[in-house]
Amino acid sequence: MSNPDCIVVGGGAIGLMSAHFLVERGRKVLLLEKGALARESSWAGGGIVSPMYPWRYPDAVNRLAVYGQRRYPEVLARLRDETGIDPELLPSGMLMLDEPEPGMWEWADKWSMKIERLTSRQALDAVQPGLDARFESGLWMPEIQQVRNPRLAKALAARARHTAGLTIREHAPVAGLLQQGDRITGVRLDSGETIAADSVLITAGAWTGGLMPPGCPAPAKIEPVKGQIVQFQAEPGQLTRMVMRESRYLIPRKDGLVLIGSTLEPGSFEKRTTAAALEDLKASAIALFPALAGCPVVNQWAGLRPGTADGVPFIGPCPAIEGLFVNAGQFRNGIVMGLGSALLAAQLMTGEQPFVDPAPYALG
Ligand SMILES: Cc1cc2nc3c(=O)[nH]c(=O)nc-3n(C[C@H](O)[C@H](O)[C@H](O)COP(=O)(O)OP(=O)(O)OC[C@H]3O[C@@H](n4cnc5c(N)ncnc54)[C@H](O)[C@@H]3O)c2cc1C
Repeated sequence: MSNPDCIVVGGGAIGLMSAHFLVERGRKVLLLEKGALARESSWAGGGIVSPMYPWRYPDAVNRLAVYGQRRYPEVLARLRDETGIDPELLPSGMLMLDEPEPGMWEWADKWSMKIERLTSRQALDAVQPGLDARFESGLWMPEIQQVRNPRLAKALAARARHTAGLTIREHAPVAGLLQQGDRITGVRLDSGETIAADSVLITAGAWTGGLMPPGCPAPAKIEPVKGQIVQFQAEPGQLTRMVMRESRYLIPRKDGLVLIGSTLEPGSFEKRTTAAALEDLKASAIALFPALAGCPVVNQWAGLRPGTADGVPFIGPCPAIEGLFVNAGQFRNGIVMGLGSALLAAQLMTGEQPFVDPAPYALG
């Protein structure tokens, strides 16, 4: 391959979608992934196509999230048709067994999202029968969807492998960036190989900080935040709604698998699952939907979210270093924000008018 125009470092959902939009804009792209494509956070997540308690987040998060919510149905249908892999975008809705919060109704008005207050057991049962008997009220968000993110990741990877103008190299860890003065000229792999390019986009999720040169400090603030999830096998259709209380959520897949997530464990790159998290998550699941007590636990895993203080990702050029760009730090919302984040990054890299004001995501 002759030198690419652009190197994308990191093949999670953010890197794969960014690479796709860059190729669509005529760039010749090389994507380098240290392991296999889309096997880290983008594989490990829950796939709720909404931030949890979205009114708690700044507009900068909601703007990208709402873009994803509106565009995913069409984008994922096309992805399914192109790859034969169905990411299972399901309109399960989100039933929140929490009280209304300040800012919630204003948020719903501002972003034109529906929230219905349910004030009786009968109303809860009409949305989702079988909830624990202590629940008498809730909040119903019928428009919230879920996506089966391991399948989304697989479909994105499959499309990437067949995209003209996009070259993928897996098991090719990037050790550092090549720089001449204040200009990026390419990357150096762990193997010592160097590859030249006009621009480099870092989409390395939780690992982004370690790749940034000293002149570009902002993404060093991205820290790994481990999240563990436990999976039950229920009967298909036994639970059909996503259910949440106090940041613990159940996500029912089409085939009866039910996820309960997730822990928030900042500060380390280790991904071990723990017996304590298993017991805690199981107890939370059964406390929401008691029938899960009779369902086997079939899996437990952990992933590393790219954590930032306020959940706002870094998207755009590194001001001090020409040719260096970042798209990382989507924290708990990289699936719902991923599409908009990737489009914005590609637009900023190709000089196109961005579809949202890029200022809140700027580095530095
Ligand atoms: C438990 C859990 C639940 C979640 N639930 C949701 C949810 O319901 N909804 C939602 O929207 N989001 C959710 N998320 C968040 C979402 O998964 C992440 O924000 C998103 O996947 C981040 O994507 P990414 O591509 O930046 O990171 P990743 O998927 O981690 O990809 C980064 C890639 O960079 C590669 N890489 C790193 N260093 C290098 C290097 N030096 N050279 C080459 N490659 C490198 C890694 O191997 C990796 O493949 C959840 C996350 C977790 C862990």
